[in-house]
Amino acid sequence: MADQTPGPDALAKVDFRPKGKTWLEPHPEFRKGTYCYSAAPKNLTYLGLPNPREWQPFNDDWKLPPDWKTIILDGMRERLDRYRSFRLFMDICVRCGACADKCHFYLGSGDPKNMPVLRAELIRSVYRRYFTPAGRIFGAVVGARDLTEDVLKEWFYYFYQCTECRRCSVFCPYGIDTAEITMIGRELLTLVGCNINWVIEPVANCFRTGNHLGIQPHGFKDSIDFAVDELEEITGIRVEAPINRKGADVLFVMPSADYFGTPHYYTLLGYLMLFHEIGLDYTLSAYASEGGNFGLFTSHEMIKRLNAKVYAEARRLGVKWIIGGECGHMWRVLHQYMDTMNGPADFLQVPVSPITGTRFEHAASTRMVHICEFTADLIRHGRLNLDPSRNDHWNVTFHDSCNPSRAMGLLEEPRYIIRNVCKAFHEMPEDTIREKTFCCGSGSGLGTDENLEMRLRGGFPRANAVRHVRDKHGVNLLACICAIDKATLPPLLEYWAPGVDVAGVHELLGNALVMRGERERTTDLRGEPLTAREEASAHA
Ligand code: SF4
Ligand code: SF4
Repeated sequence: MADQTPGPDALAKVDFRPKGKTWLEPHPEFRKGTYCYSAAPKNLTYLGLPNPREWQPFNDDWKLPPDWKTIILDGMRERLDRYRSFRLFMDICVRCGACADKCHFYLGSGDPKNMPVLRAELIRSVYRRYFTPAGRIFGAVVGARDLTEDVLKEWFYYFYQCTECRRCSVFCPYGIDTAEITMIGRELLTLVGCNINWVIEPVANCFRTGNHLGIQPHGFKDSIDFAVDELEEITGIRVEAPINRKGADVLFVMPSADYFGTPHYYTLLGYLMLFHEIGLDYTLSAYASEGGNFGLFTSHEMIKRLNAKVYAEARRLGVKWIIGGECGHMWRVLHQYMDTMNGPADFLQVPVSPITGTRFEHAASTRMVHICEFTADLIRHGRLNLDPSRNDHWNVTFHDSCNPSRAMGLLEEPRYIIRNVCKAFHEMPEDTIREKTFCCGSGSGLGTDENLEMRLRGGFPRANAVRHVRDKHGVNLLACICAIDKATLPPLLEYWAPGVDVAGVHELLGNALVMRGERERTTDLRGEPLTAREEASAHA
């Protein structure tokens, strides 16, 4: 934790009293710990994005182009014409307030402009001023605001304090999706060169080498080889992990964090063990080496550009269909945008499990199946030999990652797997899971360290629910299926709910999977000695 980050006792004191200022007057204040650094010029240049320059949000002069206002208003007009949802969302909010207390950033910060209704109003007020007769004539009386530099700065501050998690949309009687408004807000900011490096650098890397960290094909191969060696040490079995193999049945795409970060890496070990055990005819790709799509946090155009890579590789390698790993935004892109951007992927076949014969009809258009759907189907057909006692040192709860749960309804499959591979499982309170799940506080590209205070504030509702099951049931592990979650939940829990680790669902599967010909397992995939739960808690 950075020295300047306040402790939990201080941060838990949230002041919800109104600040006595009218929301119509912007008060952008870039306090250290609450905002993200700007995108580096080299990354904007690489992607052909506008206005590359050196600047930071705390600078008075943002070095905007001279005609920035025209650019933004033209961009807004274009998007009002192109996206029916955007125009609808600008017009139909009745300000009932049902969404007001549903955002984790509002709950954790007490800042009224983090209420979804008011966050959207920041852009709606400008829409009203320039695109509606009432706003043109009556101005502030009807909640219209001129577009000024301070308004633009306020957009930056609050649209980069929305994780695009869509929790608020679950509660809106009109189905207004504030995440979509945030996405448009970020697109408009991008038009004048105002975006954050934690998003733009991974996007640029993805273009250059196919993954967020810029790992080149030989580096990718090294990482996979390392995992194969390590698995051999743990299980005594040498698995195959083919890369760029043409004519395989299945292309497997995972988030790059799975092969360079922990605890993600243990999830990779679980995938490799599973594919070996069932004899799946598959390949990895050194070019589609990233399932994640940070385009989702930048612009619709960028989503499309990054998503195309997965299908280009599937076509080049001549596979029949695709399995995708434990990644959050990959699934939102696939299920909400891909078909109208780069799909349907009709050059592939409707996925059929070669082991169970199950035809995944719901993937008839995307031709892509989530690893949890694939594994749950194997378990349901009794095709895996599992020993849940090898997870006895874990007492597990499950965090529904926002994108797979709310965006594509992937609610039961991960739970089904966990219940089959672990003996101790406890749900968090109902209003904090499934469609109503609380975000980790770091989605949509906010997982960087410079905004740690805001991450801890935004992640407080999630962590509070974890703390509840830790104290009530002795939970010591939070399982999830999103790479951003796996990266940002450990520091969040260390701060708010110490004693709870984070793992992928396929790490737990890998621990429990009894492989044909394996030697007696003495450690879990983390290399920790296998101990009974009682023994583990006695040493805790
Ligand atoms: S719940 Fe929907 S209609 Fe009500 S204030 Fe929020 S966005 Fe507007
Ligand atoms: S999408 Fe999530 S982060 Fe954004 S306003 Fe809604 S609840 Fe808050």
